[in-house]
This record gives sequence, C-alpha cells and structure tokens, in this order.
Amino acid sequence: MKKITIAIDGYSSCGKSTMAKDLASEIGYVYVDSGAMYRTVTLYALEHGIIKDGQIDEERLSSEMKNIEISFVFNPERGRPDTYLSGVCVENRIRTLEVSNHVSHIAALGFVRKEMVRQQHRMGKEGGIIMDGRDIGTTVFPNAELKIFVTASPEVRAQRRYDELTAKGEICNMADILRNVEERDYIDTHRDISPLRQAEDAIVLDNSSLTIAEQKAWLLQAYQKAAKD
Ligand code: C5P
Repeated sequence: MKKITIAIDGYSSCGKSTMAKDLASEIGYVYVDSGAMYRTVTLYALEHGIIKDGQIDEERLSSEMKNIEISFVFNPERGRPDTYLSGVCVENRIRTLEVSNHVSHIAALGFVRKEMVRQQHRMGKEGGIIMDGRDIGTTVFPNAELKIFVTASPEVRAQRRYDELTAKGEICNMADILRNVEERDYIDTHRDISPLRQAEDAIVLDNSSLTIAEQKAWLLQAYQKAAKD
C-alpha cells in the first residue's frame, strides 16, 4: 500500500494522541504529536522567565526561537516518542497543568506557529506520517490523504486528563482541569492564525462513548480505505 499522510485534529484531551500512536505502531508510520512542540516552546518560556505573571515577553521569545530545538525519540517502553528540547528529554515536564495553562497563548503567536509548521513540514516530507494537533488538516498538510476531526464532550475530556495527571502523581482538581480544557478550546478556535476548525474534507469522530479498542478499529478501517483509494 502507498505511504500516505494522516492528519488528526480536534479539541484538547480527546484522545487524538492515543489513537494516533496506536495506529502508527500498527502500520509502521512515524507519529508526531504537534501539541508537544507547542508545549515545549511554552516550557522553555516558563523556565527562562519569558512568561512572567502571565505576560509573554514576545520580543525575547522571538529572538530565542533559534535556541528551541525540538526532536522526538521513540521510547519502546511507552510505545511512543518522547519529546526532547535541545537534546534533553522534557516529556514529563511539558504535560503539567502549568504548561497547559499557558500553551494556548504561546500557540497563538504567529512567529511560533511559523517555526513549528516549518519543522512539521520537514518531518512529514517523506509521507508515512501521522500527525495530530489543531491545524494539521487545514494548514500543515492540507493535501493529506486522510483527515480526521476528533471531538468529545468537555466533561469526558476533562475526566481523561484528570485520570492521566493523577496516574502520574500530579495533584489536581477536576474543576481546574475542566476550566483549562474549555479555555484552551476557546483560544484555539478563536485565534487569528490557523484556528482549530474542521477541514471540509475531514471525517468526524465523536469518541465520547467509544472504548479505546473501538476507536482503534474505526481508525484502522479509515486508514485502509484511504490508503487503497
Ligand atoms: O495537543 P495538546 O493538547 O497537547 O496541545 C497543546 C496546545 O497546543 C493546544 O491547546 C493548542 O493551543 C496548541 N496546539 C496548536 N496547534 C497544534 C497543536 C497544538 O495550536 N497543531
């Protein structure tokens, strides 16, 4: 079968990355979590005092973008790639609620998006890639052979994020997480540059009441059809 490009977009915490990485390992494709890239820029900004009291020093961030070298290294124990910032694994540090609280503001900046999209094009130039995010089917790979738009209710998504964070030992509260999920949805869908929206030719998947196994089977079928066409 020919190697295609698969774009999976959708709202925060709707299980995009779980389905994308499962399909990638099943069909031998590269999986790229584009949200991890925006999270890494946010981590850098937080750790270097570029975000202070909720304010982003845009000029400084813009001049330091060249220091933010993002890469992914497959971790066989997790069955998915870990995210690296300048050669250091930051996979756990980019998943905190603190990063989540700032990431959508960072991701709304034009110079940040321009650089991330440049890197994403480089990663996907050979095809055989599954990338998940918010603007993959609309902006990054508008010619992707398979585009999926995933959605689920905010409450279901907040519960998933809560389970994920508590499993890692982070102390968090449901109301804060639900607020974060809703706030990110709002910023992501209302920003000027590449807002989150469904591509016209995307297939919609509402996975609110699907198990991971059901979702996996659905996606495999969608891939087989797209790769054959
Ligand atoms: O996918 P995840 O929830 O980890 O993404 C974190 C944030 O990064 C999103 O809320 C969104 O603001 C931003 N993002 C984006 N474009 C993408 C992927 C993520 O703006 N392609």
